[in-house]
Amino acid sequence: MHTLYDVLKKEIVDVMRHMEDRGLNYGRSGNASIRVKGTEYVLITPSGLPKASLTPSDVLVVTMDGDVVEGVHRPTVEMPLHTTIYRRYDYVNSVIHAHGIYTTALAVAREPIPPIVEEMVIYVGGDVRVTEYAPFGSGELAERAAEALMGRKAALLANHGVVACGYDIQEALEVLTLVERVAQVYLLSRLAGRTTTLPEESVELQRKLFIERLKRNSPSTEIP
Ligand SMILES: [Zn+2]
Repeated sequence: MHTLYDVLKKEIVDVMRHMEDRGLNYGRSGNASIRVKGTEYVLITPSGLPKASLTPSDVLVVTMDGDVVEGVHRPTVEMPLHTTIYRRYDYVNSVIHAHGIYTTALAVAREPIPPIVEEMVIYVGGDVRVTEYAPFGSGELAERAAEALMGRKAALLANHGVVACGYDIQEALEVLTLVERVAQVYLLSRLAGRTTTLPEESVELQRKLFIERLKRNSPSTEIP
């Protein structure tokens, strides 16, 4: 019989493979985690291994303080990024970090993605900010990412990649996929000659829908 942890580990493994197949991430880069609701435990990908060929037994169980409870590998070096986001936002139960081409290109250009399509506001919360640079795996990167996620479900990490989060791993993957596509659309629109952002009234209207969805999952949350 499969326990809840077995099911969640399988979800993480499937997401990492899906991201590789879809070009959202590659090789040994990227990581994903799930906070087990109502506990202090986080399931998280290991450091170093090729992410598309992970098996559920490669996924670690760690505490919010980063102590390994279960697992044969070292946890991802970006573990502080994950735990810092969980500490800051109680409506987040899954975090995915990836090195997608278009999001990373914008992260290198240090260009935030303005609100250019409505689903971006409804599902991500508005524009996607870029953090200041901080070295990978650092507590500083974790803090800057958590800050950039205020009222948003994704952020670009300067010269590095993207982080997306959600109420569960399916939502985090949806957000990540959307942001990668919107990053591509944004770059292409600039090549086409002109990028027009959504009208202010439209952003405000769609943002209300974003907050309503957030409140449904986490009724007590105050969204700035
Ligand atoms: Zn990375």
